[in-house]
Amino acid sequence: MTKLILTITLISFLFISCNRNNNEKQMNDNPLLTEWNTPYGVPPFNLIKTEHYLPAYNEAMKMHNAEIEAIVNSKEEPDFNNTIAALDYSGELLIRVDNVFENVNEANTNPEMQKIAKEVAPLLSAHYDNIWLNDKLFARVKAVNDIKEALNLTTEQQMLLKKVYDNFVRGGANLPEDQKAEFRKINEQLSLLSINFGENLLAETNDFTLVIEDEKDLSGLPESVKAAAAETAKEQGLEGKWVFTLQKPSLIPFITYAENRENREYLFKGYIERGNNNNEHDNKAIVSEIVNLRLRRANMLGYDTHADYVLDNNMAKTPDKVYGLIESLMDAGLVVAKQEVKDLQALIDKEGENFKLEPWDWWYYAEKLKKEKYAFDDETLRPYFVLENVQKGLFTVANKLYGLQLTERTDLPVYHPDVKVYEVKEADGSVIGILYMDFFPRESKRGGAWMTSFRKQYKKDGGNVIPVIQTVFNFTKPTGDKPSLLSFDEASTMFHEFGHALHGLLSNCTYISLSGTAVPRDFVELPSQIMENWAAEPEVLKMYALNYKTGEPIPDELIEKMKNAGHFNQGFITVEFMSAALLDMDWHTITEQKNYDVTEFENASLEKMHMIPEIVVRYRSTYFAHIFSGGYSSGYYSYAWAEVLDADAFEAFKENGIFDQATARAFRENILSMGGTDDPMKLYVQFRGREPKTEAMLKRKGLLKN
Ligand SMILES: [Zn+2]
Repeated sequence: MTKLILTITLISFLFISCNRNNNEKQMNDNPLLTEWNTPYGVPPFNLIKTEHYLPAYNEAMKMHNAEIEAIVNSKEEPDFNNTIAALDYSGELLIRVDNVFENVNEANTNPEMQKIAKEVAPLLSAHYDNIWLNDKLFARVKAVNDIKEALNLTTEQQMLLKKVYDNFVRGGANLPEDQKAEFRKINEQLSLLSINFGENLLAETNDFTLVIEDEKDLSGLPESVKAAAAETAKEQGLEGKWVFTLQKPSLIPFITYAENRENREYLFKGYIERGNNNNEHDNKAIVSEIVNLRLRRANMLGYDTHADYVLDNNMAKTPDKVYGLIESLMDAGLVVAKQEVKDLQALIDKEGENFKLEPWDWWYYAEKLKKEKYAFDDETLRPYFVLENVQKGLFTVANKLYGLQLTERTDLPVYHPDVKVYEVKEADGSVIGILYMDFFPRESKRGGAWMTSFRKQYKKDGGNVIPVIQTVFNFTKPTGDKPSLLSFDEASTMFHEFGHALHGLLSNCTYISLSGTAVPRDFVELPSQIMENWAAEPEVLKMYALNYKTGEPIPDELIEKMKNAGHFNQGFITVEFMSAALLDMDWHTITEQKNYDVTEFENASLEKMHMIPEIVVRYRSTYFAHIFSGGYSSGYYSYAWAEVLDADAFEAFKENGIFDQATARAFRENILSMGGTDDPMKLYVQFRGREPKTEAMLKRKGLLKN
């Protein structure tokens, strides 16, 4: 018997050790898990194969767990370094693996990678849940937080401690035991309700169609729109007819071009009544339930309202600040929108029609008016925006502002042959980061444009780790003998994403969780949006917008037309948007738990703001997915907030000269290099000398005449 046990033990020992050898071999062969001996330690894309990802994830999560265990089981008293900083430095390998996988999966995916993504998502979310719900870990974090005053922390360290502590507390870690169960239940209910909201909205969007049988009801519509409607009809077994739906790509062209007013009204009303039809897909009760649960959760965490809870983490900080922004923009927008109503009504009257402008007429008559006022379009501009010239112009702007030099490196590994790689150097020649630019669409790339990082900047063991940043676009490709000719919108997008890239490249932070773009949502678009201002400055346009055939710079009259067209319909756009931001805030500043009559609440909210009947709020409550099934509750304002910031910040450059060195230095030192290491409003005030004002944004939109 003893002998048998010994044999079994021996066999299993052999098996384990043999297995371990295999594992080690696998690890050494896996380029994601070994040291990267590439220049600047960029990912060795040439060696990484799809089959390397899953084992690398598993190994990296194991390693991260071991690091967390070491923090939790430390015999030392908890302090900033052995707990908070250690937590920040943990998971380095997992972040490295995840960055490569996520970024390549977005920009150059394949079916195998998509399969891995589905497999990894639940593993990762469970992995991080285990960390944020680890009671022993929280006990150490709390112990450090309790003695923070005595620790003599730097501002950056205070910010990191706050971020880590808040993460636990906002997840309910600090609640008394008897409330934890309720808290978890609320989160569970909220996630289910938001799924229900989304499903109802999807059903309501899909269930409504406008079927056109008589071709003459299509008059006014462009051929491509008719063809798409015929295609939809065919898919629904209605061959020979035309079907329009409540999806924006079908709805918007229809209400913009269809001459048949009754049909415009029918489709538009279908759109604005989604989730409000008193059927099995009605969202009214769900809205009321969601806002009640959110209020209860906020109260449990010690906040008066859900908006207070959300905004505490943002730059705006308090509901009052957000309301202030909404009111001033809404007021300015309404003045212009009322004039736009008059202009559109005049056009209706001139055409001999005998009716009052209604919401379903707005797009149609605005389009007509636009054609009348500005006889130019995108295609007139395109010959002036050659991709390579736009890029050169952008690099020149970066050089004139910050002394940066970008030099192409053709010897570094890339994940697709189209990708270009640049070394980013300071004026003194030292390399501060690496930038990948990936310009053209392909089947393996998702739509849109974005910036991410393969490695963020941080400091460790007295050294600085330089960032490796990626920007991805879907620009018009060169064809035949024509170079890639961008629309002005695409050119602005290149400047925009490069602005995010600068936020990552110029980052000068110690901790990775605060580095670069790790800032609140209502602050993160400042570095990107401000760059778009240079793209549109006449002085800069003259430099880079050169006709691809003649080399002539863009003429002044075209620049003037671009500027004027930018002011068109801004009253409508502002009012439609700000009324939704207002509704979002009103729903999330309630202080009383009760059954809300959604329609009544909405009407009262809009009335308070003097909404005009010709415009419908951009999202009514029952289809406001951003706030009831997305992550934007009490956050819809942030798009407008970012515009206020970028216009106000750029105004500083306009006042002092768009390439003024002192202003550029102040912007770099206070915003671009600071990441999330200090309070964003404090940083902004340090740069601007005061808090942001809305004037510059209003002026840019043509909402403020002077
Ligand atoms: Zn952006």
